[in-house]
Amino acid sequence: MKLETELTSFDRELLTEATDGFLPPQVIDFHAHVMDPRFYARDAVNPAFAGRPMGFPEYTAALELLLGPRLVGEFVFPYPARRTDRAGVNAWMTAEARAAATPRHRLAALVAPADDPGVAGEWLRGGACRGLKPYHLYANDGDTRQTDIEDWAPEWMWRCCHEHEAMLILHLVKDASSAHPANQEALLRLSTRYPGCRVVLAHVGRSFNHRTARGLKALASRPNIVVDTSAITESEGIKIAFDVLGVDRVLYGSDYPISHVRGRCVTAGDSFQWIYGEEMNNPRMTLVGIESLLSHRQAAEDLGLSRTDIEKLFFANARALLG
Ligand SMILES: [Zn+2]
Repeated sequence: MKLETELTSFDRELLTEATDGFLPPQVIDFHAHVMDPRFYARDAVNPAFAGRPMGFPEYTAALELLLGPRLVGEFVFPYPARRTDRAGVNAWMTAEARAAATPRHRLAALVAPADDPGVAGEWLRGGACRGLKPYHLYANDGDTRQTDIEDWAPEWMWRCCHEHEAMLILHLVKDASSAHPANQEALLRLSTRYPGCRVVLAHVGRSFNHRTARGLKALASRPNIVVDTSAITESEGIKIAFDVLGVDRVLYGSDYPISHVRGRCVTAGDSFQWIYGEEMNNPRMTLVGIESLLSHRQAAEDLGLSRTDIEKLFFANARALLG
């Protein structure tokens, strides 16, 4: 598995197929990561990303490979990994964004249950960040794949986002993801108690198995819940998101740097499987980001989305939330 910084002619053909006559002239990427290796334990990071800087210049160059001049804004948060110096990487990210020539970056701070709520509040109060990014790996040191939401996104994060009308970006766990009753109960209860908290369920509620996206039906009554489509490489999950939540609550995201590895993620039984070009010894596989754009196009065509709907997905919904 390796991070690609150039496209092959084959990638370009597929990208043309995905984007020509489809993407609107302006795109906001609603889910992307940056990282600086100084703040990460090398063995806690995917080897494809370990040790390499992935700041705003690298991000922008990478996304321009996919989107060309259409990229006009992004919602960015540090790559989540175990034993990360969160205070360090948050401070680095906000300083980098401030120094950027065009102040278009919107940021979310990486947070963990053990962090000081007062410090998280400061990120939001001063306007440096527009959201909080918790992650299940910070729940405990063991296997966190079946952990309850409040173990990694405790109530203080919801309250903090509610007070500042900020985004809380959740990567759901448990096998059934948004279809799991415990996840649904917590999401309904907390999004109702904290209506000012804008809940972003990443990866269509982590529907890497597209069948689990049906669980979103139980959450559709809560207007402060939206989904991003980052790293989704099957059209089915994106279609369910539109069917269940409507065109105003689905937002395109790249999930850079995941977008720039050669592979895709597919539904497999009641689970999902990431497959990578190098591991499959298949040079005809393309980047996750291109697979994802192809899936967006297929979903939009199958559903008969209008130009206005497509513009909402790639731009207007994100602008409404990020300002
Ligand atoms: Zn992500």
